[in-house]
Amino acid sequence: MHVDDTHSEGDDSSLEEEEDNTVSNERQMKAKKTKVAHIVKEIMTSEKIFVKVLKLLHIDFREAVLKASCLAGKAVIDERVLNQILCSLPQLYELNYDLLKELEERVACWNENCGVADIFVKKGPYLKMYSTYIREFEKNVALLEEHCRKNPAFAKVVREFESNPCCANLAVTHYMLKPIQRIPQYQLLLTAYLNHLDEDSPDYRDAEAALAIVKEVANHANEIVKQEDNSQKLYDVQCRLMGHHVIVQPGRVLLKEGILMKLSRKVLQPRMFFLFNDSLLYGTPVSSGNFRPNNMLSLAEMKVSKPSQEGYQNELNIESVERSFILSASSSTYRDEWLQAISTAIEDYTKKETTFTSIKNPEMATKDVPNSGAQLGTTAPIWIPDPRATMCMICTCEFTLTWRRHHCRACGKVVCQACSTNKHPLKYLKNQLARVCDLCLPILQQNSSVLPHKRDQSPSSTLLSPTGKSPAFPFRKQKRIPAALKEVSANTDGSSMSGYLERTKGNRKQWKRFWFVIMNKVLYTYGASEDVAALESQPLLGFSVKTEMPESSLHFKLYHKNTLYYIFKANDPQICERWIEAFEEATVL
Ligand code: ZN
Ligand code: ZN
Repeated sequence: MHVDDTHSEGDDSSLEEEEDNTVSNERQMKAKKTKVAHIVKEIMTSEKIFVKVLKLLHIDFREAVLKASCLAGKAVIDERVLNQILCSLPQLYELNYDLLKELEERVACWNENCGVADIFVKKGPYLKMYSTYIREFEKNVALLEEHCRKNPAFAKVVREFESNPCCANLAVTHYMLKPIQRIPQYQLLLTAYLNHLDEDSPDYRDAEAALAIVKEVANHANEIVKQEDNSQKLYDVQCRLMGHHVIVQPGRVLLKEGILMKLSRKVLQPRMFFLFNDSLLYGTPVSSGNFRPNNMLSLAEMKVSKPSQEGYQNELNIESVERSFILSASSSTYRDEWLQAISTAIEDYTKKETTFTSIKNPEMATKDVPNSGAQLGTTAPIWIPDPRATMCMICTCEFTLTWRRHHCRACGKVVCQACSTNKHPLKYLKNQLARVCDLCLPILQQNSSVLPHKRDQSPSSTLLSPTGKSPAFPFRKQKRIPAALKEVSANTDGSSMSGYLERTKGNRKQWKRFWFVIMNKVLYTYGASEDVAALESQPLLGFSVKTEMPESSLHFKLYHKNTLYYIFKANDPQICERWIEAFEEATVL
């Protein structure tokens, strides 16, 4: 490395900068002319390589297809399709073949007073053929891939051709991109050429004109190459995806990817998420960045939101027609990043879709925006995770090992068997029968009687249990709960503070975790965040809160007069601070 550095000091690129004013003008002129000759040579040699690429596609690839067709006794691909895939290449090959020949002639008898820009100006009108090639490029690559997918014989020809030494194991599509990359190269080379020409050189005006022509085509090429970058990202995701699901699609853009924890009924599981401009893909991570896809949800009618309760600051809710769930991010900042990205993507997608429908059907545009008042059963509900409800959310009976939790498929609530004896067809499940709770059933029945269904085609709700509407449930543990404890549910709007805290009566070895809500100066204690009845309710007027030293402690104590009631522990100093404020506010009138 160091050796190279010292050697490079004397090379010709630094020559002109290092030479000072004492050097004669003549020597400077000479250096410039040498540089011009270098650039011309560079234009020629790179052109030679480029013409080889054009020949590879236009002649060699065609021949390989023809040969395979002869062997097979029939065409492996329709000739019109092949011509479309290779469209413009015959003309480009001819154009650049001529260009190369003229460049070679100039270089062979190079004299300091001639130039090459006039050749480009002469070819100028034909260079515009590149715009046609560029415009058709994406479509032709898609066409090639499509035929490789559905035509195994053609796919085999392509594969064998690519494994040829002349292809250097690179894909045909890689070579198809070369003509698009050639135009910006011309721009660079001609700019360098112009910069080293004297203004009074006979080739100067031609060089300016040639550069202007190339720039115009290059601007077009840049746009396409940008889209190519996005395709590359899509291909990368496609390569990491284990399975047959095809995600590469024209117009699809990858917006964000990352790992989020998905909350299932009982546990958190890591999932890889990919946000596209039209959908959200998630899968199970396997190894070294690969993943097995679980689901791909359309952004149409998707909703993303923060949980309504405090105490879940890393979470976000995803609601879509097919699936709805809770996600947990590694931090609240990361949560907000995803929330922002998904909601912007949904907004853009909806905007695009409504513009599209409004063009097709002007009446549709105003009314067809999805909203939160969506009808029960038309979209998948978020299933409330098991640990967040210790009791049936309808009858408040306690769940035990034998008295198990069930989920209503319409609203997602955790309910007991006795409160969910019925099945009803649900639209998001393609009208399959599914367990619904006693609160959802009458609403669903009313909705389906309003709809113009043919009676015999829509199965009405059926009982899960054959024994009738009120079967005997021997293990149901139902305590009589005082009305005061049912006034406020753990998941309530309008509380001044809510969340999990650990609590002890005094012995610091016996902490127990509860969900607390302070509302209207009353402290409510719940087994979990979705419980509909409190375990205790305690008006806080006349109580006092004492913090511990040091200030940063996560603990605080609740006293009545001089009697210690409880010690509380939060898991975060800021949250602890907010709890203390909420308690203090509730202890005074
Ligand atoms: Zn119940
Ligand atoms: Zn329900």
